[in-house]
Amino acid sequence: MPVGIASIGELLVEFVSTEAGGGHRRVGTYTGPFPSGAPGIFIDQAAQSGARAIFVGAVGRDAFGEVVLQRLREHGVDDSLIAVDLELPTGSAFVSYNADGSRDFVYNILHSAAASFLVDDATVERLLGFGLDVVHVSGSALASPEMARKILHLCKALHENGVRVSFDPNIRKELLGDPGYFGIVNQLIDICSMFLPSDADAEVLFPGEELETYAASLFAKGVEYVVLKQGDRGASAVHRSGEHHKVAAHKVQPADPTGAGDCFCGTFVTLISSGFAFREALELANAAGALAVKKVGPMEGNSTLATLKAFVAGRA
Ligand code: ATP
Ligand code: MG
Repeated sequence: MPVGIASIGELLVEFVSTEAGGGHRRVGTYTGPFPSGAPGIFIDQAAQSGARAIFVGAVGRDAFGEVVLQRLREHGVDDSLIAVDLELPTGSAFVSYNADGSRDFVYNILHSAAASFLVDDATVERLLGFGLDVVHVSGSALASPEMARKILHLCKALHENGVRVSFDPNIRKELLGDPGYFGIVNQLIDICSMFLPSDADAEVLFPGEELETYAASLFAKGVEYVVLKQGDRGASAVHRSGEHHKVAAHKVQPADPTGAGDCFCGTFVTLISSGFAFREALELANAAGALAVKKVGPMEGNSTLATLKAFVAGRA
């Protein structure tokens, strides 16, 4: 049976500014609505990589909700734990790039359906019944104490039942409102098997430390894999056995890097949990990230496993 993977958190539509440097402060044009939300991008890519995928979240009863649901259903994601909120609108994000490649976001998460997902005993039972191997958390979903509480509760309950936890800190400066945020991050690190920060995340969490140094402290806590996403410099990864690999980024013309990290994680977590060799899982995840940045829209560059294999083999 294919590996069972769950993701939880915000489902959004995203609008991408078509001009750089406006910072959302000038009249300009945006393209969208694209289905989005880091946990949603992850699960879409997990499904396309061959996982049995299920999502815990919520959308509003509106056109934006339909955009998100339709995409996830199209790719075979089980939507039985995605609630349709009758009062709140679907969450949204607006992204604008600056000349140096940095991004500014305006989010509507906390007061939208994106934050209103339900976690109770029935959610845990349903996920265990689904046959779950891994539950994935993106730090962007810890945007409020209430969201963080629900996610932590679910992950702890699943972890106690033998489900592995994967965690991408995915720190967004715009979402760092909760003073308890880093406490939650540490509790997730304590129960996670796979830890997948970006360069920027690692610099916030382990300032000035090399991968090998903080990986050693994470292995002591029970983490199995530490995978560092390094944007256009590729990725480096270490297993607690000492096995480590580094891959250079593919040369591509970046159109919209947002979502590459989630897409990378969706691929790596699925393949490593499906028995792929460490090096091959990393190479295919690196390919998924490269293909993701080529397309405008956070999930538009997600790829099937066959496409990723062809790309790595130089056939696509
Ligand atoms: P996000 O949070 O926006 O989804 P991230 O910061 O978590 O992204 P990145 O390091 O930007 O993650 O990207 C993930 C992976 O995608 C990289 O490790 C690399 O494999 C691939 N990638 C990203 N940017 C590029 C690029 N410009 N060219 C080729 N590959 C890239
Ligand atoms: Mg990220």
